[in-house]
Amino acid sequence: MNQSICPFPKFFPSQLDKNHLFYMQHAYNEAINAWNQNEVPIGAVIRHHDEIISSAHNQTRGQKDPTAHAEMIAITMAAKRIGDWRLNDCTLYVTKEPCPMCAGATVMARIRKIHFSFEDPKMGGLGGATSLHSLELSNHKPKISVGIMRQESMKLVQAFFQLQRSSNTDN
Ligand SMILES: [Zn+2]
Repeated sequence: MNQSICPFPKFFPSQLDKNHLFYMQHAYNEAINAWNQNEVPIGAVIRHHDEIISSAHNQTRGQKDPTAHAEMIAITMAAKRIGDWRLNDCTLYVTKEPCPMCAGATVMARIRKIHFSFEDPKMGGLGGATSLHSLELSNHKPKISVGIMRQESMKLVQAFFQLQRSSNTDN
């Protein structure tokens, strides 16, 4: 597998304005960390009040673990940090719509709100392909918000796969 350095620059989130963009920029920077380790560039952070309590990127290839998605790692880290499996005061920011596994984990963790950059009609678990946040009989229904850094996050994933395809045909 070819190693490549991510051609897109990281953001420098301003500490002065801790808005949703601030947290998503951190998640985006994690996605770039993923690229630089030859992982699919998706990043996630979990916010508790005004603090980032966990930050992770995809590690499925490196860990050889199909469950090592950014969101799963971030949720486990956040629960350890808080010392409770319930993350109901937490908000997840992730650069792509979570898959059904990760979407299920956000429900199990009772995460209050999820922001993601862009929808995944093929495998999205929060409205894209299926809607695990609104199961009729579920007691917990996370709030969903879509679109922060949509273009940037989408471009990152598309460019990564384009590069992988072209390097495969070059070989
Ligand atoms: Zn996932």
